[in-house]
Amino acid sequence: MMQEQSEQIAKHKIIASNFKTNHTRKSTKEFVENVNKFLQDENITNEVYIFPTATALNEFDTVSNLSLGAQNAYCVKNGSFTGEIGTEQLDEFGIKTILIGHSERRHVLGESQKEIALKYNYYKSHGYQIIYCIGEPLEVKEAGLTETLGYIWEQFDGIDLDYDNLILAYEPVWAIGTGVVAKVEDIATIHRKIKKKIDKPLLYGGSVKPSNLEEILNIENVDGTLIGTSSWDVEQFKDMISITSKK
Ligand code: PEP
Repeated sequence: MMQEQSEQIAKHKIIASNFKTNHTRKSTKEFVENVNKFLQDENITNEVYIFPTATALNEFDTVSNLSLGAQNAYCVKNGSFTGEIGTEQLDEFGIKTILIGHSERRHVLGESQKEIALKYNYYKSHGYQIIYCIGEPLEVKEAGLTETLGYIWEQFDGIDLDYDNLILAYEPVWAIGTGVVAKVEDIATIHRKIKKKIDKPLLYGGSVKPSNLEEILNIENVDGTLIGTSSWDVEQFKDMISITSKK
């Protein structure tokens, strides 16, 4: 399943914003249009992703390097799955990008690895760009590196790592939405270990903000960031796109 690391060609860094349960349909539209104009005006070609709430998805007219994605969807086209959306609803807006395995879905909404793998395989079979999230809770981190890596490898159960449209995001659970950022050496260690086994773009996520973004992007094997809280303000997100574009 896992492949040896191959020579990585230096690539532009990626930046992604996860809105979680924030912004309205109206403010999302303004946000996306603002970011899109900024990318055009500044001639920025880095891959930028925005994951709005399901109610704010729309057919946005954007530059090719700005993609809108779903934070979550069920592994189905349509049917009787109250509260869920499927590919029929995503197709309406041309959405072809999805976040899978986010820590809040795993640990707050209780998604199991089996359910996550089903979702992954369904969206893989439909050719979606998948940002697949992994990361350990605090008690696992405190148990040590072997335990942490063991926990992370289990999050790859049932996941085809050879899939072309796969981006990984390492997001330690204890650093998400808490303001606590992982130490540079911790990020470097985990990213090196993951990259050794899996040759895919690897983002870091967990309390990234304008003041720590550059330092994080300078860490070897960090190919970009997935950002929640500090990305919800459009001016701040544009500042972080700017920083990312210079790396
Ligand atoms: C996230 O939602 O993926 C995330 C990293 O959130 P925050 O930046 O708020 O920690």
